[in-house]
Amino acid sequence: MAHQIEPLIACRECDLLLREIPLFPNDVASCRGCGAQLYRNTPNSLNRTLVFSLTAAILFIIANAYPILGIEIQGTRNATNLYGAVYSLWNHEMRIIALLVFATTILIPAVELTMMIYLLLPLCLRRKPPGIALNLRILQGIKPWGMIEVFMLGVLVSLVKLNDSFSIIPGVALWAFGGLTFMFATVAASFNPRDVWAHLDREPDGKGST
Ligand SMILES: [Zn+2]
Repeated sequence: MAHQIEPLIACRECDLLLREIPLFPNDVASCRGCGAQLYRNTPNSLNRTLVFSLTAAILFIIANAYPILGIEIQGTRNATNLYGAVYSLWNHEMRIIALLVFATTILIPAVELTMMIYLLLPLCLRRKPPGIALNLRILQGIKPWGMIEVFMLGVLVSLVKLNDSFSIIPGVALWAFGGLTFMFATVAASFNPRDVWAHLDREPDGKGST
């Protein structure tokens, strides 16, 4: 790998080819042709994304373990968690919807968070996890299929509708889902695969200083 010659990158907006230059912390590189932002040097972005991912993981566990909402009918309380909702959809012959909810709200967010932590935790501890390129490719591929915010919206709409006829008790998991929606957006905003490669360029053996 020749480090003397800086690599070429293409502007996503106007396709102009430019030479990548090293940036000072917090600096932004813009395209010479159209002024679009090309990349930025955000110090500690991997550490920050790891903290957000771990927070999201804790919220995810709470969101899955506790009831989303409870309904009180004539003094009897009935609460359901996410698995209960999926199970009930499945039993009511709405199997495709059950599978969709399971995939977009449980499976894919779980895989996404696991892969994120698998990638970032070793990097932040100055180790290099195996399969980084594959991990990043899978992360990019599955990202559009995680739809916690759609689920959250659905729950809120049904909450408003049901509240006319029943007395609804919001569960712990509902608040956790709210936090999780926000945390997933924060992880997406703070994570840039570029920073992973920049980090590895600085510490190719994973043992240098940050
Ligand atoms: Zn441009």
